[in-house]
Amino acid sequence: MSKAKHFAGLDIGGSTVKAVIINSTGDQVGPIVEVKSHVKDGYQATFKQLEAALDELTKNAGIDRKDIGGIGLDVPAPSSNGVIWGKANLGDDWVGTDICAELNKHLNIPIHMTNDCNAAAVGEYAIRHKHLGALLLVAPGTGLGGGFVLPGGKLYEGANGLALEVGHISVPFTEDDGSLPSCTCGLKGCLEAWVSLVALRRRLSIELQKPEWKDHALNATEATIEEKAFKLRTLAEHGDALSIQLFKQQGFILGYGIADLVRTFDPGLVVIGGGLAEAKFRNDFLDWVREGFADRAWPIYRHSPIDPQKETTRFEWAEGGDAAASIGMAYTARELFS
Ligand SMILES: [Zn+2]
Repeated sequence: MSKAKHFAGLDIGGSTVKAVIINSTGDQVGPIVEVKSHVKDGYQATFKQLEAALDELTKNAGIDRKDIGGIGLDVPAPSSNGVIWGKANLGDDWVGTDICAELNKHLNIPIHMTNDCNAAAVGEYAIRHKHLGALLLVAPGTGLGGGFVLPGGKLYEGANGLALEVGHISVPFTEDDGSLPSCTCGLKGCLEAWVSLVALRRRLSIELQKPEWKDHALNATEATIEEKAFKLRTLAEHGDALSIQLFKQQGFILGYGIADLVRTFDPGLVVIGGGLAEAKFRNDFLDWVREGFADRAWPIYRHSPIDPQKETTRFEWAEGGDAAASIGMAYTARELFS
């Protein structure tokens, strides 16, 4: 039997790898290490970077690589049992390859791989030291990802690692002409088609064509819709009515969708991740989420029937920032391989 007492978390992003190591009691040992990911150069190029990160982690922790009992790996792509199966912001050779098996040829250490939102969900759980219940993470970004952690800290991934594709639950919201918006997944009416950066661009271009926004500053520039959408957060922070309207709609529909997820999982705690966690209007956004939630959730999912002051579903912002996913994967490795 292995006497290994350390577990590594490796978070592979589009440009960097963030890596962390924890001991058997879950304490982080040494700082988070960051190296370039080189994902576009193929997975073998990234493996070299992972090895460099592991060398630095073990050096900082004063241990040998053989003292690592398991590795948790996360990627910004949908994956199932170590294989990326969907659209990925990575080089072509990543998709359809058994990444865990290939990496294991180099490292000979047990490896578990999942997507970045699942990893961040465990990370958010791990940094809330006093939290004992379940945790649902919903993270709007370019798309809309999610993750669910069971009481005790175990990640729930489903039978095939395909659970919690929360961006693709169906919501009954339509455009002004009554149509359901198309989602990047090929379906129509997905939550992600309303709550994501992609959705924000679509909604912005529709609104800018309306007479009431004819004189809006964003109509006076030659910038692309991507560039204009990028400005919305700052504009909202300065009170711009159009930007606030767009974020308010996103918040409301996100809360509405979360109501069905809460009805399914009853997590008690819903953590909202993604870039808006750093927006100055984040408290307003959370109120808009709660409004949408209240519109769809039964009262029992909002307040205890015995103590009406007690919330049955709490909403919080993510706290872990960029480090959450790597920490989450180190915890997941400890859960699976200790
Ligand atoms: Zn979809």
